[in-house]
Formats: sequence, structure tokens, C-alpha cells
Amino acid sequence: MKSILENRPALKAEIDKVAEVAGYLWQKGWAERNGGNITVNITEFVDDAMRAMPAIEQPRPIGRVLPLLGGRWFYCKGTGRRMRDLARDPMANGSIIRILPDCAHYEIVADQPVAPTSELPSHLAVHDYLLANGSPYRASLHTHPIELVALTHNRKWLEKDAATKMLWSMIPETRAFCPRGLGIVPYMMPSSHELAEATINVIDENYDVVMWEKHGVFAVDTDIINAFDQVDVLNKAAQIYIAARNMGFVPDGMTAAQMRELGITFGLPK
Ligand SMILES: [Zn+2]
Repeated sequence: MKSILENRPALKAEIDKVAEVAGYLWQKGWAERNGGNITVNITEFVDDAMRAMPAIEQPRPIGRVLPLLGGRWFYCKGTGRRMRDLARDPMANGSIIRILPDCAHYEIVADQPVAPTSELPSHLAVHDYLLANGSPYRASLHTHPIELVALTHNRKWLEKDAATKMLWSMIPETRAFCPRGLGIVPYMMPSSHELAEATINVIDENYDVVMWEKHGVFAVDTDIINAFDQVDVLNKAAQIYIAARNMGFVPDGMTAAQMRELGITFGLPK
């Protein structure tokens, strides 16, 4: 069967990024079994021939009305699918969907009838929020980074910006490459409407990476590589903190003055 990616190099490049990141998630041990999700708004890569394609399944309800999403297109990881399989074959472990003009239903267009992740309503709600706010962000990532999740098992790191300040102070690049820090959402039921709303509220407080207590992170950025990189630099900082603790001391961290200087030099948003 011909793939929708054939003769569409820009779209294929975007899906290749998803496969690349899925491989990293598995290699890092952040994506056990079918853990984690990826959705990407691919509307800008859609051509007239794609718009004319019939759906390969009946429309399905999203479960909510998302007013900015009518006519938008997304790549979504399939429900129950493994990141390690998606890394090898993204179009057999995810699908391309379009949102119907009613903003309440979607249909699978390609390549195979792979039902999207059960987290689809939450991810789409975030994409709707991003579009409503004129954000250039098109990708969302949910994954289980080991050291960052471990941090959330201690109340101290759940206080607003406590983890951000510690992580930023481990090496200068953390502050430069995750410049909005780590927002915190207290434990809530996975897949719940409540968790999606809380995540959007934290993104709205000017965070790109949101930590779900005792669960994982949810990150947004212009593309999936950049979303992954933000999580990766944060988790690296957590690993440095742990390495210092394993050497028997609490790391000093960079000083407040050094962090301020970085912010001024690089024109960082916080
Ligand atoms: Zn999860």
C-alpha cells in the first residue's frame, strides 16, 4: 500500500522526527511498554490532494468541542502502541487524522486504521489552547523521564519553581535551553479532563514542560525534537544532582548572581 508520506518530503521529514524521538524515549528507558504519547499538528504540511482523500474509517467523537481545530490535521501515536515500534515504523503505530468542521469529531485518513492514543482529547485540548493563543508550538510529548519523576516523590520539589531553580543551577545550558523551567501539576488521574485542564493552566503560566507528580512530563514546542530536547536537558540536570548526592554531598549549584547573568546575556524569558 502506498503511504501518504510518499512524494511529500516535508511531511515525511516531520514524521521522521517523531520516529527519531520515539527511539530516544525507548533508549533512555522513558517509554516502558506503551508508555508515553506524541501528537503533532501537521496542518502546514497538508496539500490539496491530501484534503481530497477519503477517510479510512467512520468519524469518531473527540469527546469535547475544540473550536480552533476544525480542518486541522494531526499525527497521533496509536493507542496501546509501543514507542520502540513507532521508532521503526511510525505509520503502522500511529495515524494521520483530520478534525471535522464541527470541531467535535475526527477521522483517520492514513495510512492504516490505527486508533489514536486514549490521551487524544487531552493532547488536542492543548493544541487548541496553543492555536487560540497564537503559539508557534505544534508538537506535544508525554513521557516518563526516570530522574525527573523520582524528584516528584518528595514534597520539597513540588513547591513552585523549587525543582526549576535546582535544575537550572546544575549547568548553565539547562537554564538556556529550558528557559521557562518546570511547571508542576499535583497528582491527578491519568487521562482525566481535570489533568488536561491543569496542564493547560500551567502552560498558560508560561511553562513549556509540565511535571505530573509521580507520573511523567508533558512538553510542548515548535516540533517534537525541540520538545524532547527540553525534557532531556532537565533530566540531565536531575542526573547531575543525583550524581553529586551519590558522591556524598549536596551540590552547591550555580549562584543566583550567575543565573541572573545568564538570563541577561541570553535574553531569557524568566
Ligand atoms: Zn504516562
